[in-house]
Amino acid sequence: MRGLMQDWPLLCHKIIDHAALNHGGRAVVSRSVEGPIHRTTYRELHGRALKVAQRLDRDGIRLGDRVATLAWNTWRHVEAWYGIMGIGAICHTVNPRLFPEQIAWIINHAGDRVLMLDLTFVPLVEKIAAQLPGIERYIVLTDAAHMPATSLNNAVAYESWLAEADGDFAWREFDENTAAGMCYTSGTTGNPKGVVYSHRSNVLHALITNTPDTFGSSARDVVLPVVPMFHANGWGLVFNAPMSGAKLVLPGARLDGASVYELMAAEKVSFTAGVPTVWLMLLQHLEATGAMLPDLKRMIIGGAAAPRSMIETYEDKYGVEVRHSWGMTEMSPLGTVCTLTADHDGLAADQRLDVKTSQGRTPFMVEMEITDDEGRVLPRDGATFGRLKVRGPAVSSSYFRDAADVLDGDGHFDTGDVATIDAGGYMRITDRSKDVIKSGGEWISTIALENLAVGHPQVAEAAVIGIKHPKWDERPLLIVVPKPGQVPTREDILGFMTGRVAKWWMPDDVVFVDEIPHTATGKIKKTALRDIFRDHVLPAGGG
Ligand code: ADP
Repeated sequence: MRGLMQDWPLLCHKIIDHAALNHGGRAVVSRSVEGPIHRTTYRELHGRALKVAQRLDRDGIRLGDRVATLAWNTWRHVEAWYGIMGIGAICHTVNPRLFPEQIAWIINHAGDRVLMLDLTFVPLVEKIAAQLPGIERYIVLTDAAHMPATSLNNAVAYESWLAEADGDFAWREFDENTAAGMCYTSGTTGNPKGVVYSHRSNVLHALITNTPDTFGSSARDVVLPVVPMFHANGWGLVFNAPMSGAKLVLPGARLDGASVYELMAAEKVSFTAGVPTVWLMLLQHLEATGAMLPDLKRMIIGGAAAPRSMIETYEDKYGVEVRHSWGMTEMSPLGTVCTLTADHDGLAADQRLDVKTSQGRTPFMVEMEITDDEGRVLPRDGATFGRLKVRGPAVSSSYFRDAADVLDGDGHFDTGDVATIDAGGYMRITDRSKDVIKSGGEWISTIALENLAVGHPQVAEAAVIGIKHPKWDERPLLIVVPKPGQVPTREDILGFMTGRVAKWWMPDDVVFVDEIPHTATGKIKKTALRDIFRDHVLPAGGG
């Protein structure tokens, strides 16, 4: 017997319909790319998103067509996001931090027909436009007054283009499994891979992330997605906030500590999310100015491991509940979030912090396991580590225009991460499988060493890579960026780490640099570091 409930398709535009109707007056505040702070509401944003849909439809964009954006988080980008999806076209958020050749490759691979871009990126796109034969029109996300003279084919200012629509338009109806968004993984090895989200997966993901032990935003929250919309589906926040009716604050192009702090203070941000590098910049700003964060209640740190000292400082000094989170582009992206349960109430502060450094537990609709190389499921004992695999309705089943089967026999996706899971379901990433250091047949976690090193008061950032070793195969090299004005020594740092990790995990050497290279999504670029230090000679006697 079938259930007798209505067939109500899970479509992304229903989220902005809901926000406009039930939270219509709630503010959407952006730092515009042109400079000034811009204010609108969900009601207005909904009306303009409908105009985007109508205008794209008039330009001949149809179900299944790809429309790319190369843009920061602003209200215009959110309007475009919903407008594109609302006619069954696919919003392809391109990461502008990639190399120009990679951007061109991705746009061509995706088969994008229209490119919407911020003013910031006009010079960049002019340089690669000759390599983009499929783009029929460039829409610059600005008004006529700010529209630059440009060589881009068929270029138009977004506001002029939008003004040609009257908004008398209805969203298209289609199946909930229709593609809605597209995001390429940065492809640290090989070409980038296209992840394709569906309307259904995005709506389910927004419901998942609105539960109390995940992001848990409510209509009382003020949400600041520092994570850009072009990074891993924007962590779903552009769906999550309007679904719950939270006020939305968008940081535009300025993600430095001072600018992010200024928005947080002015708009009374209560919930925010971003990668460790942006939270490091914010901490440096707070430390330099003595400013506090009285309104900020919860902060997601994800995309790379959150150092223990960072979690501790935000929690103890600034009174912010840090939720360490793990996910990936292929998971829409949420995999796990670390929140404590009543079982942890009796723990000492240090032990609670131990738990908080783990990547946390899966919400409902994410299934996770660790296996050995033969695919045998390993125990949840907090000590055994293995390949981390996941399953769920918002997890990729394959990549765009790629015939390879990415799922194992029972439908799990291999994340490429190595992890432990404990009896309470708390997962701890040991490393990415390609970064883990193999020393004397055993594994050393580079993440654990990095997190320990940044706990040293003179260290701003740290990275660990494996250096070839004749006896042990590989040994760890610690690369350190000192805090401004500090001059720590090799001995200081090794002395600080001694006794806090197994002796054979201790780095064989420490080097100091001004800067550590990062990937387009803010992660430490280990491949580049391995190239730079390929010929580094470790001092004798290591291991
Ligand atoms: P890209 O590879 O393009 O940067 P993703 O953001 O999808 O894209 O990267 C996902 C990977 O980031 C994960 O597989 C994992 O290795 C790493 N990662 C994400 N969150 C964390 C975390 N909290 N701790 C450690 N690693 C993390």
